[in-house]
Order: sequence, then structure tokens, then C-alpha cells
Amino acid sequence: MIDEFVRTLPKVELHVHLEGTIRPALLLELAQKNGVPLPVETADQLEQWYRFTGFPHFIEIYLAISSCICTPDDIELIARDFLEGQAAQNIRYSEVIFTPFTHFSRNRNIPFDDQMRALSRARKWAVAELGVDVGWVLDISRNVRPVEHSLTVVDWAIEAMSQGVVGFGIGGPEVGNPPELFEPAFDRARAAGLLSLPHAGETVGPESIWGAIDTLGADRIGHGVRCLEDPSLVAILRDRQIPLDVCPTSNVCLGVAPSLAEHPLPRLLDEGLFVTLNSDDPPMFNTTLTEEYLKVVHTMGLGLAVLEQLVQNGVAASALPEAERRNLSLEFRQESDQLRKTLGSEDNS
Ligand SMILES: [Zn+2]
Repeated sequence: MIDEFVRTLPKVELHVHLEGTIRPALLLELAQKNGVPLPVETADQLEQWYRFTGFPHFIEIYLAISSCICTPDDIELIARDFLEGQAAQNIRYSEVIFTPFTHFSRNRNIPFDDQMRALSRARKWAVAELGVDVGWVLDISRNVRPVEHSLTVVDWAIEAMSQGVVGFGIGGPEVGNPPELFEPAFDRARAAGLLSLPHAGETVGPESIWGAIDTLGADRIGHGVRCLEDPSLVAILRDRQIPLDVCPTSNVCLGVAPSLAEHPLPRLLDEGLFVTLNSDDPPMFNTTLTEEYLKVVHTMGLGLAVLEQLVQNGVAASALPEAERRNLSLEFRQESDQLRKTLGSEDNS
């Protein structure tokens, strides 16, 4: 019953990278269309190649993916494909991280306006045809130099707020690239009304999260699981109820947690922290948001009430306007109650 409940439950997702959602078959299609060589040739080989082996391999796949995104139509295609997958999991609203500078500078020189128009076409289609919506989070890789490029991206983000951009973030290698470097960009983003959504506390410990809070005014922390190394940081996160975008399988694949069974999510909840559940780069980690929920139940031993709370936390921590959050929260609660009754009666029949 619980598996069916998880699959059918309405959800939101707040931490997923568009470029990290490309399925192997779609990557092959893009590579063939654009004449980009990949290290393997068939869909089967590609499935194998996608299987995670370690951080350098993760970067290799990420770079290959980026090199296959050559036109605005490619961006629209991956966004549509992703949103179809979200709809199939009953994820009604997603906040999706996208890294426009990569497609502007490193690869194909796609002007930002064209990138944004492609995302908007996909969003419009998803709202009309699938009944799911999306808010975009533009981010910059923290190893981009000069750091001033972050100001370019934040200006793009501000310009595109009317097209569904809700936040500004930093991702990429945390080691050697502390949050403090990006203070001017985040100041500008927050002044314009964008959410501050930095990754922190994944491969670097508490000091990175402190920087994200104190210097960048983080509204949510991407990952943040290493806060547990510093009780005074845990106290601040608890007092201010700053949400953590937690992505368990990603943490295991990237060596942040030793295994799912030992993942700190239950401890974060015990500490009274505000946790949401997310998939990060789902096909690269061979997961989905639904799978993450199933793992919370089956591997971490948490029950339905926790699961429903995680869903509600996602709604509450989203960038949606307050009235929409309230409505969505109520709608989800009603659907969840109904689902419990239906599945409960099926179990008894
Ligand atoms: Zn991430």
C-alpha cells in the first residue's frame, strides 16, 4: 500500500538541476542530432556509462551533457522531457536549477534571451498540457572566473523574473570557492526579490553553511547536511527554520554520506530542522523523487506521517506566493487523506 501511496501522492520538488535530468536515451538523441561524439555509441552502452562510479565520472558525464546542448530547441526539449517526468510522478510544482552561463560561454554561445525563451515555451506547454508548473533558479558554477561573471548572471535572473525566475544560486565545486566570494551578486539578487539559494555544506563543512547564512542571506540551503558537525549551527538553523534541500541518493553517490541507511536525514529531523526531500540529478544517480520518498520509507524506516510532513515542507519552503502555498498545502492534505482512505479500503477488501 505504501509504495502506491508514495507514487500517487501529490508532491513538489525544490532542488533538481535541469542539465542533470537528461535521460541517457535523450542524451543519445541530442548527440546524434548535433554530431557530438560521446564515449559510447548505443543506448545500452550509454545506460552503463551513466551508472555512477565516482566524482570524476560525474563531472565527465556533466561535461558531455553540456556539450550536447547546442540550440535553444535543445533546451526546450530537455525541459519538456523533464516536466513530463515530473507530471508522471505527480510533482505539481518544481523549482529547477539551470546554469545559463555554461550555454552562453563554454559551448554554443546561446544568448541568454534565447535560452530563457526556450524555458518559457516549455513551461507554458507544461502548464497547459500537463497541469504542472515550474519556477526557475538560475545558478552559477562557483569555480567560474572572474567571479564578476556572477553579476552578469544575476542581472539576467532579475531581468527574467517576469518569466518565472524565482531564485539565484551557486553550485559546483565548494572546496576553494567559499560563499563570501559571491556576496555582491547575492546582495543584488535579494534586493530585487529573488530567493537566495546557495549550495553549501555538501563537500565543505559548517563554515560553508555559516557563509551561506551570514553573507548570502540564504533562504534555503542546497544540501546543508554537514551542519550536524556544529551544534551552534544546528541551533541557528532550527531557530530560524531555514529549510535544507536534502538529496539522500546524491549524498551517497558523491560520498557525502556513507550509505542510505546511515544518511543523516532522520537525525536532521530529530534535531527539529526544516527538511525537504529532492533528487538533485536524478538519472545520473539512478533515482527519481518518488524513489527518494520510497527510500525514506524502506531504508530509513520513516513512516507515512513523516513522508507527508516532507511534502508539506516542500510546499512551505517554495517560492510560491503565500496564498498559493496555502491553497496547495490544503489541496495536498485533502488528496493525501483521500488516498489513505482509498488505499486502506483496497487493502481491506
Ligand atoms: Zn544540487
